[in-house]
Amino acid sequence: MKFDLDAVFVEDGCANSALATRILSAIPRNVPVTHVADAREASRPASGVRDPFGAGKRRLVISRRKTPFLMPCPAGSSKFACCGYLVLTLASNCPMDCSYCFLQEYLADNPAFQVYANYTESFDELDRLCANARGRSFRVGTGELADSLAFDSLTGISRDLIEFFAERENLTLELKTKTDEIENLLDVDPRGRVLVSWTLSPDAVYRSSEHLTASPSVRIAAARAVLDAGYRVAFHFDPLIAYPDAERDCILLIDELLDVIPPKQISFISMGGLRMTPRLRSAARSRFPNDPMLCGEDVLASDGRFRTFTPLRLSLFRTLADRFKKAGAEIPAYLCMEPASVHEHVFGAVPARPATIGERLARA
Ligand code: SF4
Repeated sequence: MKFDLDAVFVEDGCANSALATRILSAIPRNVPVTHVADAREASRPASGVRDPFGAGKRRLVISRRKTPFLMPCPAGSSKFACCGYLVLTLASNCPMDCSYCFLQEYLADNPAFQVYANYTESFDELDRLCANARGRSFRVGTGELADSLAFDSLTGISRDLIEFFAERENLTLELKTKTDEIENLLDVDPRGRVLVSWTLSPDAVYRSSEHLTASPSVRIAAARAVLDAGYRVAFHFDPLIAYPDAERDCILLIDELLDVIPPKQISFISMGGLRMTPRLRSAARSRFPNDPMLCGEDVLASDGRFRTFTPLRLSLFRTLADRFKKAGAEIPAYLCMEPASVHEHVFGAVPARPATIGERLARA
């Protein structure tokens, strides 16, 4: 196991589930396991600790999910040119600890690392989605409220997911990660229906802000390995952070990526700027007071988020877009949580509707 756990809690009714059985047989013997009637209490922030959010990441809670697994991406909004992504919530929170991570706000009241013993019920939701929208294609990801593969060595969820998606013509699964936990993927045949995507940042951002993640070079090597095993790959440059030398470092990063993965084998890229609500910014700065990446030039934008000063942000987007264009292949690209006007400025074209982009990326 690559990440430390302080404790495991199992909600009544879940102890005999396949997921609990797998996890309980894989955790080290010294991790205490407690059975609880209701997992909500175990999921709340611990009292009397200096960093309740950080402590929550090391507390694994196995419970039943009582609300739907499938939902539209929570970052979506009519203000932005969205990508039509659907989110499958099979876990909540993440054992890694990026200083800019929005989960510090989103899960502040509920910070335990939760996994859902009834996760295969999500397959019924997906089948209903397909039955109600015949002829359409969907890209569905598990990496929004959690990293898709962190702890996969404990949960083994990826195998069930890949086997399910491999049989569905009009669904594409996106596993999004900052790890190299790919062992479970290498002996399952995705039959072209599974994308694995990595968020990539320059080395300076990795070292300053992305605690416990795999290094960018290790992520790129993992991408090469899953590509060779029959998976599609994609890359997210999000958040792009404007610091001195950011543009130079981003170009070096892309050069390193394209040396290992030929551009025509990249299904798509996405980019997004650093953005933080006031509450997230103060949580992040208080948890990571020495991270210079959190202290760049930003302004409060009309959507209520602090964003990197627009000319700096646009310049970073264009630097990356131009570098990929120079590589010679038409790699589909989109911006996350940016208005259509920014999209037009960067790519020179009006973005398509979210449903159209979603279909295109599902088939890319
Ligand atoms: S890897 Fe992703 S989910 Fe995990 S802490 Fe970093 S940004 Fe958040």
